[in-house]
Amino acid sequence: MSKDWNPRTRAVHGGSRRSQYGELSEAIFLTQGFVYESAEAAEARFIEAGPDEFIYARYGNPTVAMFEERIAGIEGAEDAFATASGMAAVSGALMAMLKAGDHVVSSRALFGSCLYVLEEILTRYGVEVTFVDGADLDQWRAAIRPDTRAVFFESLSNPTLELVDIKAVSDIAHSVGATVVIDNVFATPVFSDAIAQGADVVIYSATKHIDGQGRALGGVILGTREFIRKTVEPYMKHIGGSMSPFTAWVMLKGIETMELRVKAQVETAFALADRLDGHKALARVLYPGLPGHRQYDLCQRQMGKGGTVISIDLNGGQSAAFQFLNALQIAKISNNLGDAKTIATHPATTTHQRLPDDQKAALGITPGLVRLSIGIEDTDDLMTDILQALEHVN
Ligand SMILES: *Cc1c(COP(=O)(O)O)cnc(C)c1O
Repeated sequence: MSKDWNPRTRAVHGGSRRSQYGELSEAIFLTQGFVYESAEAAEARFIEAGPDEFIYARYGNPTVAMFEERIAGIEGAEDAFATASGMAAVSGALMAMLKAGDHVVSSRALFGSCLYVLEEILTRYGVEVTFVDGADLDQWRAAIRPDTRAVFFESLSNPTLELVDIKAVSDIAHSVGATVVIDNVFATPVFSDAIAQGADVVIYSATKHIDGQGRALGGVILGTREFIRKTVEPYMKHIGGSMSPFTAWVMLKGIETMELRVKAQVETAFALADRLDGHKALARVLYPGLPGHRQYDLCQRQMGKGGTVISIDLNGGQSAAFQFLNALQIAKISNNLGDAKTIATHPATTTHQRLPDDQKAALGITPGLVRLSIGIEDTDDLMTDILQALEHVN
């Protein structure tokens, strides 16, 4: 792959490996194993496998390798490891590098399963975790200690869309030698410059914008070659969380159109947020791409755009939110995000139902809050749909 290629070219051609047939579209190598020409060749490959030599699909596979190389090229990472889901990537990156006695600092506003891994699982194995308000740099400074091994946060939080300042938190973390691990799903690979801004490890749920069409679960861990091959790979290949070749193929095809989709989604998200801001049925419109948002400057600096998700808070609480959701015609009630289809979610009763009320309140997850993941439908049609659904709220 040419180093000069821009992301859109890398998205289509990066990582391509062709078989002897010269197929145009990437091949799916649906094989768990590989045949060696001789006993000596098998022995040599087990001592050290070259970049185009595979042993067992849990360790690596040509289709999966194409996906890893393609997404690494777009993210500007040295290397990547593809996983069976976004959560296999989050838990894998953390479990691979941590041991009992280590200290981790994490933002509290996390995707529910991420919170479970940090709060319930890591602690069970003797890792100490301190939670902070990710937008408050003083809390990061106070929580990070000389023995802090890693910091973890979602660069744009779910569902209230608060940014964590990647550069500032990375500087604080690096001052004690801690590894910065970022779940960057809401920023999307299209609007991410996380590694240049200080992240050591970047994680995506490929289920979201990378597939973007609701077909498959997947994830990816991106970082230095040393971290991916010496820390992540030995853990993941033995624990069994690798991506399947079929999923890798779905993701490869997803990446080809990712930038086109995500840019269209962001444009519509901005138009909707701008139109809905100040609507009489709404107490708040949360979208960091709006010039009035308190983190607008940080958002411009870190992502350049506001992302594909907006959250709105209806004045009438849960009953208003349910009336709104039930009146939507184009947007679907579901809980995925980053999809081609617009998806509306009521976090308080679904994705964040498990949280006690005081934690919901602390995270801004009010009874009237609805998260809208904007799809690629026509902007005017979506606008009409959302405005008519708001009319149904009494
Ligand atoms: C969806 C999501 C995950 C988990 O990804 P899966 O592919 O569902 O396992 C992790 N973090 C964030 C921010 C997500 O949105």
